[in-house]
Amino acid sequence: MRRERVSDDIYVFTSDLYAQVTASAVVTREGIVVIDTLPFSNETQEMIDYLNALGQGPIRYLVNTHWHGDHTNGNYLFDPSIELVCHKKCQEALLQHGREALEEAKEASPLLEEAELRVPDVVFEEGEMVLHIGNKSIELALMPGHTLDSTVAYVREDKVMLAADTVMPVPYFVWGDRHKFLESLKALEQYQMESIVQGHGEVLLRGEIPSAIQSSIKYLNFIEKKVMEVVEKGQSPSALDRLTIDKCGKSRIPLNGLVQDLHRANLLSLYEELSAKAN
Ligand SMILES: [Zn+2]
Repeated sequence: MRRERVSDDIYVFTSDLYAQVTASAVVTREGIVVIDTLPFSNETQEMIDYLNALGQGPIRYLVNTHWHGDHTNGNYLFDPSIELVCHKKCQEALLQHGREALEEAKEASPLLEEAELRVPDVVFEEGEMVLHIGNKSIELALMPGHTLDSTVAYVREDKVMLAADTVMPVPYFVWGDRHKFLESLKALEQYQMESIVQGHGEVLLRGEIPSAIQSSIKYLNFIEKKVMEVVEKGQSPSALDRLTIDKCGKSRIPLNGLVQDLHRANLLSLYEELSAKAN
């Protein structure tokens, strides 16, 4: 697990074991707010131990940004006295898919042997909720796209956006909705941001933010157009192979190349959707 600090009060923890998943912690005068867990129990426990040893007060809240296991598998490791918070849609998705997803993950990895499903019970239903704690205001805003329950957490005082999977090296919408994704990225541009903590991969610094968001917007529009051409010509999905990630305006390098798999999955899901509509 890699640890870094993006402001005086915000720590970011990055998994070494799976897809460079990030989790964050906001230190306030009245305790610590954690945003997401890491995929595997040992890394989440290491993060909790580190935060407890800081001497900056107890962990008070854990926020889940969306239901995916790589961000929620560690929920069960937090003390029962800690409040778990998420959007109502995230709670519903965890209740619906969480158990099955966790069972699959457990079969795939002994590191999750002891994991149990724990679903947040403090929910918000509106588009936005502000968590006021100590000297910090953390705006939780629903930004559907990657999934329909995707939420970001913006720390006003630090101007840091904990964007989770709403910002990734390549926008990944197979579980979500690419049109809503575009709207969410445009909404994200309205914030004043010193840095963005992506759900996977490197932290984006101020100078990198506008081009990163724009390139994701362009990517979503570009692949829609290109996949539509393939569908209109009646070509098979193998015709998608020539639409490499580089040709679609994104680098093939981030997340140790995993972005190429995400990109291919995007293309295929788009192909299936557009060809179903065409027929
Ligand atoms: Zn996700």
